[in-house]
Amino acid sequence: MHHPVAIIGAGLGGLTLARVLHVRGIKAAVFDLDASPTARTQGGLLDIHLDSGQEALRAAGLHDGFRRLVMPGGQATRVLDRDAVVRFEDADDGTGGRPEVDRGALRDLLLHSLPEGTVRWGAKVTGARALGEGRHEVRLEDGSAFTTDLLVGADGAWSRIRPLLSAARPAYTGVSFVETDLPDADVRHPVSAAVVGGGFLLALGAGKGFLAHREPDGGLHVYTALRVAEGWADGIDFGDTEVAKERVLEHFADWDKSLRALVADADGPLVPRLIHALPVGHRWDRVPGVTLLGDAAHLMSPFAGEGANLAMLDGAELGLALAAHPGGREAALAAYEEKLFPRSAAAAADSARSATALFAEDAPRAVVDLFTARP
Ligand SMILES: Cc1cc2nc3c(=O)[nH]c(=O)nc-3n(C[C@H](O)[C@H](O)[C@H](O)COP(=O)(O)OP(=O)(O)OC[C@H]3O[C@@H](n4cnc5c(N)ncnc54)[C@H](O)[C@@H]3O)c2cc1C
Repeated sequence: MHHPVAIIGAGLGGLTLARVLHVRGIKAAVFDLDASPTARTQGGLLDIHLDSGQEALRAAGLHDGFRRLVMPGGQATRVLDRDAVVRFEDADDGTGGRPEVDRGALRDLLLHSLPEGTVRWGAKVTGARALGEGRHEVRLEDGSAFTTDLLVGADGAWSRIRPLLSAARPAYTGVSFVETDLPDADVRHPVSAAVVGGGFLLALGAGKGFLAHREPDGGLHVYTALRVAEGWADGIDFGDTEVAKERVLEHFADWDKSLRALVADADGPLVPRLIHALPVGHRWDRVPGVTLLGDAAHLMSPFAGEGANLAMLDGAELGLALAAHPGGREAALAAYEEKLFPRSAAAAADSARSATALFAEDAPRAVVDLFTARP
């Protein structure tokens, strides 16, 4: 089997690329390891930035569809200290450049904009090898293989395509998250609903904090963040929710009860998530016929809220470059990477700086200063 263009990964980045190519008459095949589009909950809210994610959606001809998904009031932001004292507050007056949308709804918008059958589900790529002159053979877990003239690794943090270009591997950033949910918050968890407010909450102290969103369905999604050793989560039995809650809350013994409730009152399991990043400034020399986008190219900590936005912008820019260089694959890839590398290096440095500010000894001071200084 041969595919002229093969995109590995049906995340926001890979789908944006497929869509931008589709509307310019270029066919691409997308492969994803998930068994179906509904195999995994996409969860969480994303703020989509004017100059990156929204720019990409315009190139994809989907900006109007995106506007219909925006959660009113979702850009409201508040910063609290560990005593739950509000140190910064910004209401959403509808004029901000970072509207919030549900990640799953955004992915569905992209997915449904592609011709039926574009995404091959249940297709886990195990590796790829160069065949010469920029062609590659890609192997799948089911033992099958295909060849392609253009291979794009849009397969996220643990990309199977990245080794064709670079020996870099993501490293632990020193921060672990534990995710919790409080559904139907106004009715079932009014104290937590009040502390989070209408949009995004940051409650911060030295080396730890809570990052929480109000979701479009009225639930609260909470990331408890801790500066801990890489093996910390392995030492906790997350199968026993009550014990896991106690172990997480040990770190917040002297925090206000309304903030501790974001974990104590959560429904369902606690989900640990280690935060990894590629080295800031990760790049590679041009290798014929293959490139990367999104997290595969520049995995960074989520503290600048850029990862999904950049993945979409990468996808759009790669699509536009390929459409602008018909028959000139290498020129298109070089033009794409020339802009990709400095853009992602700047965002990765920004994310790393934000992580330092968020979890500083005197947190939330630096974060309050940052928000206050914003125009
Ligand atoms: C807790 C958290 C909060 C975040 N919050 C934000 C935020 O507010 N704003 C923001 O902009 N970013 C945020 N991010 C970052 C954002 O989620 C990522 O940067 C973004 O999803 C990257 O998109 P992608 O398309 O590159 O990769 P992904 O979304 O990871 O998609 C990769 C796809 O590839 C598939 N895949 C993986 N391996 C294979 C394989 N071997 N074979 C076939 N398919 C494969 C996967 O199934 C997946 O569908 C956050 C990240 C985390 C962890």
